[in-house]
Amino acid sequence: MSELAILGGKKTRSEPFPWYNTMGEEERLAVDQVMRTGILSKFHGSWNDKFLGGPEIRAFEAEWCKRFDAKHSVSVNSNTSGLQAALGAINVGWGDEVIVSPYTMCVSATAPLVWNATPVFADIEPRTYNLDPESIRRKITSKTRAIVVVHIFGCPADMDPILEIAREYKLKVIEDCAQAPGATYKGRQVGTIGDIGVFSLNWHKHIHAGEGGVCTTNDDHLAERLQLIRNHAEAVVEFMRPGTEIPLENLIGFNFRMLELQAAIARVQIKRLDPEIALRRKYARLMEETLRRYPFMTVPEVPSDREHVYYTQAFQYDAAKAGVSRARFAAALRAELAPFQCFEDEGVAIGEGYIKPLYLMPLFQKRIAYKGGFPFTGRENYDRGICPVVEKMHFGTLMHHGFIKGSLSESDFKDVLAAFAKVCDRIGELKE
Ligand SMILES: *Cc1c(COP(=O)(O)O)cnc(C)c1O
Repeated sequence: MSELAILGGKKTRSEPFPWYNTMGEEERLAVDQVMRTGILSKFHGSWNDKFLGGPEIRAFEAEWCKRFDAKHSVSVNSNTSGLQAALGAINVGWGDEVIVSPYTMCVSATAPLVWNATPVFADIEPRTYNLDPESIRRKITSKTRAIVVVHIFGCPADMDPILEIAREYKLKVIEDCAQAPGATYKGRQVGTIGDIGVFSLNWHKHIHAGEGGVCTTNDDHLAERLQLIRNHAEAVVEFMRPGTEIPLENLIGFNFRMLELQAAIARVQIKRLDPEIALRRKYARLMEETLRRYPFMTVPEVPSDREHVYYTQAFQYDAAKAGVSRARFAAALRAELAPFQCFEDEGVAIGEGYIKPLYLMPLFQKRIAYKGGFPFTGRENYDRGICPVVEKMHFGTLMHHGFIKGSLSESDFKDVLAAFAKVCDRIGELKE
């Protein structure tokens, strides 16, 4: 085997990896059919037969319910708006606290702010990188109203103890399933375990429509509130059930509606999910087998009561054991591999850490969400050190790679494995 690429040797793989384009003939036909009708959206923000959207939206929502075992699916134009709608639907507001994860895409933590509630960060557990139920318990106060659980990287969070805490303190539970469509916990689909699940259909998720999202719930009342928040509730409530009082809290106007075109694409994409998950699991297992050979690598076992769907694959690197810094190790891996086609400017998909712990963002450090600093009181604690596990993972040990994608053939993925094995086998040569 040649010398490490970072030291002047030959790269393991120099040809860019094929990009993940899952838009096929079926999607094109589905879009064409909608285009022929000329009806790209059929939503109307008033109480009539268009309040719930057109035929593609309704068919898509029914099919989503079927695939994910949910009683109700409410499509929205992103997971971001879905989380905002979900927090509005469970009726959080000013003075309330919502427990969130610091290790996730930002909106899982900022959505409560839209309703003037404040996020409180709990720590993660190092096995799945998801919220640690014990840490959640420690963060509960008399103001806590809800928990936003994220099934990060595609691995379900430990829902039973979280639901137990929620029952004990009468909290609502929102599941952010953006990275975990089809993942299961004790045989149940994520997104149906808490009060509301939220999924993403943006272009880098397992299945997509460019942009889009879906909220799932088994609760009739919450489903109705989600539909109202999606589509100008304030103009609708008056006419919904004449003679009955509908509580108005959090029913102000948004337009979170998805297009018929997106629904048509998403209906085809649902069918692509299961083969995609199967392939990702296979590649993930191959990578685990490779990495487990090295004492400086930790690839936590996926707990046996869950099925991981691998939005990305994370592992932990022990720089002290390896005798080489994480930055240098990552640079050596990147040097062996190529970027994705069309995304050459993003570099090779090897990450050190994931997203900087969210409480370190200026929004929380300066406690300014709205003009005047509202809704923060100054009593919130967003100091460095509040979640030691996430800080250790992010700044110290966690790495992830973005090569688990259906666009890679088995031979493409073997190149990725070979690059990891080459750098790990020769790690001694990286010592400075
Ligand atoms: C992608 C993502 C979101 C946001 O999804 P959009 O559809 O882009 O708004 C939220 N949470 C997590 C965990 C995500 O990965």
